[in-house]
Amino acid sequence: MAETQIEWTDATWNPVAGCSIVTAGCSNCYAMQMARRLESMGVAKYEGLTRKSGKRAIWNGIVREDHAALAIPYSWKKPRKIFVNSMSDLFHDAVSEEFILDVWQVMRDTPRHNYQILTKRPERMAELVARMPDVLPNVWLGTSVESAEVVGRIDYLRAVPAHIRFISFEPLIGTVGVVDLSNIDWAIVGGESGLNARPIREEWIDEIYNQCETYGTAFFFKQWGTWGKDNKKRSKKANGREYRGQIWNEMPAALAM
Ligand code: SF4
Repeated sequence: MAETQIEWTDATWNPVAGCSIVTAGCSNCYAMQMARRLESMGVAKYEGLTRKSGKRAIWNGIVREDHAALAIPYSWKKPRKIFVNSMSDLFHDAVSEEFILDVWQVMRDTPRHNYQILTKRPERMAELVARMPDVLPNVWLGTSVESAEVVGRIDYLRAVPAHIRFISFEPLIGTVGVVDLSNIDWAIVGGESGLNARPIREEWIDEIYNQCETYGTAFFFKQWGTWGKDNKKRSKKANGREYRGQIWNEMPAALAM
C-alpha cells in the first residue's frame, strides 16, 4: 500500500501490523477496522490481529513484523514523505529492537525520502532512539496528544534526538491546556470522523494555534471531522478543512534546510 488520503503525507509504509489500545485517543482507531477488512479480503499480513466486540473490531495485541516490507522504500525512486506504520505503532512493546534497527537502516539507506514516525509510546521511542548511533536528517519523530491527560508525552518527545519533532493533536477530544512546545517543529490538529466520532471544539483548536504562534511551531489543520465548527454533525467532507477562514498546510521550517 502506498498512496494515501492522509493530507500531511505522500505515502504510507507498514513494516508492522497490529497494535493494542493505549489511551482514549485509540478508542475509534481506524486501523483496527481496516485490519479486519483487509483480513476478510484475504490479506495474510492482517490475519488474526483483531477480535470482535459487538459490531466493532478491537486489536487483540498480536503484532506482526513484516520483513518483506522493508524492501518497499528502496523501490520508490521519487522522493516522498512517508508515514511509517499507519496500521500499527513502531514503538509497541511487541516490536523487537532488532526490527526497529532494521527499519532505521532502511531510512538511512534512502535519504531521498522523509519518514514521519508517530507514536503513542514516546517513552520507548526516547529510550531506543537515544541508543542509535546517528540522528538521521530525513526522520521526523512525533507523538499523538488527544487531550490534557497525555501531554506528558511531549516531554519524552522533546528528549529524543531528532531533526524534526512533531505532535499530532488528533483526534482532538479535549482541551490540552498550557503546553510547552519548545523544540517542537510541527503541530497537526484534527477532529475525529466516523460513526462514533467525538466532537471537537473550536476553542481547543484556538488554544493550540495560539501556542504554536508563541513557540514558532508550524501549524497544520487537517480536518474538522464529523463535527463542524458550529458543533453540528455532518460528513467530514462537508465540514472541510477551513479554520479561521483559511486552509492551514504549514510544514516544519527545518524541511527547507
Ligand atoms: S496506538 Fe495508534 S494504531 Fe495503536 S491502537 Fe492507538 S491509534 Fe490505533
